[in-house]
Amino acid sequence: MIDIKSLTLEELQAELKKMGQPSFRAGQIFKWLHEGVKSFDEMTNISKSLREELGQKCYISSATIEKKLISDYDDTVKYLFSFRDGETVESVLMKYHHGYTSCISTQVGCKMGCTFCATGMGGYVRNLTPSEMLAQLQAEQADRNIRISNIVLMGMGEPLDNFDNVIRFLKLVSDDKGMNIGMRHISLSTCGVVPKIYELADLKLQLTLSVSLHAPNDQIRSKTMPVNRRWGIDELLEACRYYLKMTNRRISFEYAMIDNVNDSDACARELAKRLHGMLAHVNLIPVNAVNGTGYKKSKAERLRAFSNILEKSGITVTVRRTLGSDINASCGQLRRGTKSEADKKGAENDAGIQQK
Ligand code: SAH
Ligand code: SF4
Repeated sequence: MIDIKSLTLEELQAELKKMGQPSFRAGQIFKWLHEGVKSFDEMTNISKSLREELGQKCYISSATIEKKLISDYDDTVKYLFSFRDGETVESVLMKYHHGYTSCISTQVGCKMGCTFCATGMGGYVRNLTPSEMLAQLQAEQADRNIRISNIVLMGMGEPLDNFDNVIRFLKLVSDDKGMNIGMRHISLSTCGVVPKIYELADLKLQLTLSVSLHAPNDQIRSKTMPVNRRWGIDELLEACRYYLKMTNRRISFEYAMIDNVNDSDACARELAKRLHGMLAHVNLIPVNAVNGTGYKKSKAERLRAFSNILEKSGITVTVRRTLGSDINASCGQLRRGTKSEADKKGAENDAGIQQK
């Protein structure tokens, strides 16, 4: 069976040509697919016989809502979606003043094994197809009756470990005949798969690259992020500089603040030194305490001191606004089905979490 929603317009034209169809037909079908139809029968300007033929040869990926948590405070919605083989991933829809941002998954599970991450603890199952990435966005738009304007590839999985499918997804989602979400409205987050950062840089897409740094030196980083044993911080930052040179896009560094692990003044000074002179931005995030990791979030006073040191060295910092804190909106925990400390607390004070 052909995964029809993962095809580019040109590929779809070639498939339809094989079926003896004119190329404008492909344009009509492409439009339907990217509007989010779930069956060929919804394509009302296509003949019944062609719809039947397509149904025999192709399938349309969709994401089915298995669970849904709605934050009472800020309209953040966290979804657990399933695909046709029953595998599940999480996705989070956030509302900002400029519109809706969706944080989608790129793999079922992840191979990278970061020790603070719920997804990493669960291991790897499979890559998502481009159509399954699109389907997450389409399911959210239909569920909330909204348009998504921004995307972050920050859900489950390591996008650069599923490079070809992710690039294909990016091309499809930014196609002006499709969802038309421009590259400048998309961020891709990576734990630091260095060779793929070079490959991405060479494509010169106008994406925002987010790098999950989480430590100022190899000693700490190799303990929390096994990927660092393969490509250390120097190599990673060199790849980031190359990305900057090729794209002229500021890089955003994610830094999850973990109590007594990476949050000292000395860590802040070391980080400032490493990033000195680079067009970079640091996002400090209090780590989400996942059960079984033994990690705790840094105290508010630590976050302030850390961010002051960075700012004094001329680095721009934001302490990330945590949306949907009552539903524990960071990914990996809904699927894992285990309750973290924060989850439990959220449930106890359960002000308004609606569960589907
Ligand atoms: N694999 C990619 C993208 C998915 S993870 C990456 O690692 O960048 C998305 C972000 O969530 C990353 O910055 C990741 O480090 C962060 N993250 C994972 N577990 C977390 C936790 N328990 N608390 C805070 N951030 C976490
Ligand atoms: Fe994978 Fe990212 Fe989680 Fe690390 S933080 S295990 S790379 S999803």
